[in-house]
Amino acid sequence: MYRISDCYSEFLLSRKEFSLANVSKRRTSIPVYVGDVRIGGGGDVVVQSMTTTNTADVDATRAQIQRLADAGCEIVRIAVPDNNAAQALPNLVKNSSVPLIADIHFDYRLALSAAEAGIHGLRINPGNIGDPDRVKQVVKACKSRDIPIRIGVNAGSIPENRHPDGRPKQGEALAEAMVGHAMEHIRILEGEGFESMKISLKAFEIDPMVRAYRMLAPKIPYPLHLGITEAGTPRAGSIRSAIGIGMLLYEGIGDTIRVSLTAEPEEEIPVAFEILKSLDIREKGPVMVSCPSCGRCEIDLFPLVDKVEKYLEHVDEPIKVAVMGCVVNGPGEAKDADIGLAGGKGRGVIFSKGEILETLDEDQFMPRLTAGIEQLLEEKRAATSTEVLEP
Ligand code: SF4
Repeated sequence: MYRISDCYSEFLLSRKEFSLANVSKRRTSIPVYVGDVRIGGGGDVVVQSMTTTNTADVDATRAQIQRLADAGCEIVRIAVPDNNAAQALPNLVKNSSVPLIADIHFDYRLALSAAEAGIHGLRINPGNIGDPDRVKQVVKACKSRDIPIRIGVNAGSIPENRHPDGRPKQGEALAEAMVGHAMEHIRILEGEGFESMKISLKAFEIDPMVRAYRMLAPKIPYPLHLGITEAGTPRAGSIRSAIGIGMLLYEGIGDTIRVSLTAEPEEEIPVAFEILKSLDIREKGPVMVSCPSCGRCEIDLFPLVDKVEKYLEHVDEPIKVAVMGCVVNGPGEAKDADIGLAGGKGRGVIFSKGEILETLDEDQFMPRLTAGIEQLLEEKRAATSTEVLEP
């Protein structure tokens, strides 16, 4: 029997566009350590962000670093544009609960100051330093202190991003230019015997960004830092980042991510973790399943979902909670969750770990769900402490 799906699969296979890659096949890379946080080498995909304060304002920057750490950010990057910022580094490093990366452009002396201050990582492109002797000095300082370097290529700022006639490069041509640019910088560090590096190839457009990472991934053994640069406002930037970063992570590419939003940097962290959780790459806090509701729904679903989501905001443990409008899809999702509700006509059924717990009137949904969530969390904590105690 002729099936159009077979024909389509064959067509895709013939064009080698059909990829069976998935997140269970992570690209292998060597590990790089930023402070005590491992990037690559089969470790967790690490979430990072960047401060927006004036780095020289130590109190404001320290407070923002701590807010980022409280939100779950695992590495924080800070801009070091001048000597005033560099002078703030010893104080910031000393008081930081997460590893810090100094973001430096061009001035090798700032890189040396950052290394001297005990910074945990540098973002600097060695080719921009120019003088090979200065590059040697930076590499020597990083080597002696185990400081890794990120080579960060941004599509908008590389000289090779235009054709000879001045037209901007796009798609494959831009990706090739980005990879070529990255390779030049990688070779400079390798020429100095330096391998503790990670690479980023960021662009605003998803197409060249994804192509560039795919192109570079099989060429080098170093971890890859993923990001869409200048992704935009929280809504647009989150979606753009989720698509670009998510596509690559799904193919097993990517060891650390940054979601860049025009917002307080703390807002980037839940978005980044939501991307990782959506791909089952990391567990971080609750996962909530809720339906969009429709004409079948006979409970007041939206306010209930809002309340449950708010309640879960301060839960750190992984727990899956489902809040569903009716019996069409409700019982299935509710059963699959750690705890779930399937609504009915002004009433609903609560499930826990696949079993029906009880049937309740609507005004009892919230107290019963929160009590159930607390009980499950207690059980998880007790199980964890038993595991720790057992030899
Ligand atoms: S679970 Fe029920 S109420 Fe919710 S979208 Fe599906 S059919 Fe509609």
